[in-house]
Amino acid sequence: MDNRRMRELEEMCIQEDPPFCQAACPLGMDGRGLCSDLAAGTVDKARAKVEEGIPVPLLLCRICDEPCKTACPKGRSGDAISMALLERYSLENGKTPRKRPSFLPPRTDRIALVGSGLAAMAAMESLRAKRYLPRVYIPDGDLAARLREDDRMPRDLLDETLERLLEGLNVVAESPSLEELSEFDGVVIADGSPLRYPGPTDDVTFATEVAGLFSLPLPSGSPSTEARRGLEAVLSLERHLQGASLESERTKKADRNTRLRAPEDDTPSEAIVPRGGTYSSEEATAEAARCLTCQCLICHPWCLYLQEYGGSPRKYIRTYHNNLIINKGNRTANRMIDSCSLCGLCAEVCPTGLDVGQASLESRRKMVDTGHMPPSHHDYPLRDMASALEETDFLLDPTGGSPEWLFFPGCQLGASEPRWVTESYRYLTDRLESVALWVSCCGAPARWGGREALYMDVMDLWIERWEELGRPKVVTACSTCHGLLKERLPEDTAVTLWETMDKLGLPEEGDVSAETVTVSDPCTARDDRTAQEAVRNLLRRRGLALEEHPRSGRTTECCGFGGLVFSANPDLAKRSAARRVQEAGHPMVVSCAMCRELYARTGHPTWHILELLLSPEGKAPSPRPFPGWSARRENRKKLKAEMTSGTTPKKPSESLVMDEELRQNLDDRWIIEEEILKVIEEAQSGGPRLRRKDSDVYLAYSVLGQRTLWVEYSPEGNRWRIHDSYSHRMTIQEVTR
Ligand code: SF4
Ligand code: SF4
Ligand code: SF4
Repeated sequence: MDNRRMRELEEMCIQEDPPFCQAACPLGMDGRGLCSDLAAGTVDKARAKVEEGIPVPLLLCRICDEPCKTACPKGRSGDAISMALLERYSLENGKTPRKRPSFLPPRTDRIALVGSGLAAMAAMESLRAKRYLPRVYIPDGDLAARLREDDRMPRDLLDETLERLLEGLNVVAESPSLEELSEFDGVVIADGSPLRYPGPTDDVTFATEVAGLFSLPLPSGSPSTEARRGLEAVLSLERHLQGASLESERTKKADRNTRLRAPEDDTPSEAIVPRGGTYSSEEATAEAARCLTCQCLICHPWCLYLQEYGGSPRKYIRTYHNNLIINKGNRTANRMIDSCSLCGLCAEVCPTGLDVGQASLESRRKMVDTGHMPPSHHDYPLRDMASALEETDFLLDPTGGSPEWLFFPGCQLGASEPRWVTESYRYLTDRLESVALWVSCCGAPARWGGREALYMDVMDLWIERWEELGRPKVVTACSTCHGLLKERLPEDTAVTLWETMDKLGLPEEGDVSAETVTVSDPCTARDDRTAQEAVRNLLRRRGLALEEHPRSGRTTECCGFGGLVFSANPDLAKRSAARRVQEAGHPMVVSCAMCRELYARTGHPTWHILELLLSPEGKAPSPRPFPGWSARRENRKKLKAEMTSGTTPKKPSESLVMDEELRQNLDDRWIIEEEILKVIEEAQSGGPRLRRKDSDVYLAYSVLGQRTLWVEYSPEGNRWRIHDSYSHRMTIQEVTR
């Protein structure tokens, strides 16, 4: 992901767009933050926000025209938030933090300020804060002349403010000539009659045709706009003195737009009216608590991953990028990048369609390319993919090379239950002219793991073999394979088993009785309305009463397998599956083998659709528990042996004895029984092994790919008792016995 791409994606996230009140306020006052502080009772923080957000705040909060109120969505069905009253409450009740005395001397630039009114006062305050000591020309003699006419403005407050602003300055009660002003390094004209001086040629910077002279237009009648103009003129003056660009970043900032969508206001309410003219503490808290805290985090409640690391997706994308460019593979950020299931749900619910998964995938590719992808994150799924491609791949083609149909169930269906593949294949051969069966992997783990070159190799080979078979139509039984194959196959070449069965008829007739079931769509089928409909039709035709999962169809979630999260962040994957089953009102039915496994692993009764479709009429079979990763590997071998040679291989588990707790523990860490047996067999036929003193317990190891697997075992009858097993990424060069 380069800088441009990161900015593009970052820009799509509107979470940091200002709330409506802030966008509408000419001064950009953080009304949302103010309300949050007051609602939480942190009045000092609220005061600091007001003092930072608006100039001459004690005056402005009394007379502000509150454009924020017009924009505030609370005003749609009730009253908008009374921001000015809240500002005033904060100023009058919050404490100002003690400021460090400044020992910096005033600036020596010769500055003139001409005018009176709120714009001039705001400019004056800003100039003083920046350590400029302007000469002040007040043509009508009173800096606050027009404000005195406003009966909301207490006279003593005005006088105090003027005294503070003018203290120590050279004040002249007349209009200077242009010639006189040319003596100054910078001038701000805010006298309300620009005809006397050159008018502004730019309505953001207030620059005039005279360099260094910034002139405000005729008063707008809006106090907040006037105050803003005063500040902008000083900013221009400062940039002029520094020789910096007057315009840079300002036009964009000037139109403070927001792309936020107004939140639904469930409880329209009326504004709290202060009983005594200003808010009491209770009144201010109650008024602030009405605020809807407008922001976009629409995607957050949908995605546990986005909640996991906190902050907005914008921050996620920044972290991804910084991890690659600055940190070069920080451990926490690596895991963060690999913990997204790439499910695309965020893009569905996001108002701008931002797909965080796409950003995560691009970052993974970069991590792989630059050697920063931690091998441990995807070790097991990649090993499993290799096994599915090299050990258990098989093609059964009764036509001898030119089938009309190819059934490609993928690698996970047979790993869950070989019978689902054999019986589905039988179903297809009974109804279609010529059908071949190819059990293999589509390469999804490589793609999800960011190993795009490897994925392309797998997929290219797949396409080559498909072409050798005469480009048959493909029936899939896995939504991930289906989606990936559709990227490469001509249109209408791939069809799901569910659509095929819906069209050709049920494999078994008669009702299967079960209580109501919750249908759960796999995340990789979120766009496949046809397949989703077919699944529901088939289940209904078998007499089942269906209930939709609250998050289904386009907004379905990932079970935790997608994006290889189950391997990179097993805990998050388990919580994702647990949340989904908790929200299902009934036993679940899924059409993805891995959804079935991961939901079943939570203990929630979950059927694969084939379990119900292939059952004879009558009571539905009991949903099976999760078989475990070792058993899944054995199932694949069994499927291949049965279909290609009619034999049933001996299961490694039959040669091993171990406590259930240890078995579970090893399975959780993807230490596969087949590999344990391999280590023992190697050791027993002369491979490296150590014997524990005075016992028949051996410690043996074998280098399997990039890791070394250690097994502690002893003979037990004609089997092997396993005491422990562990693996690491260190390879042993030499062992001294
Ligand atoms: S839904 Fe999420 S990703 Fe989309 S703009 Fe909102 S916070 Fe950003
Ligand atoms: S509801 Fe709150 S955050 Fe939203 S616009 Fe109104 S004051 Fe601002
Ligand atoms: S792709 Fe899925 S897991 Fe990743 S951020 Fe989006 S919703 Fe969450």
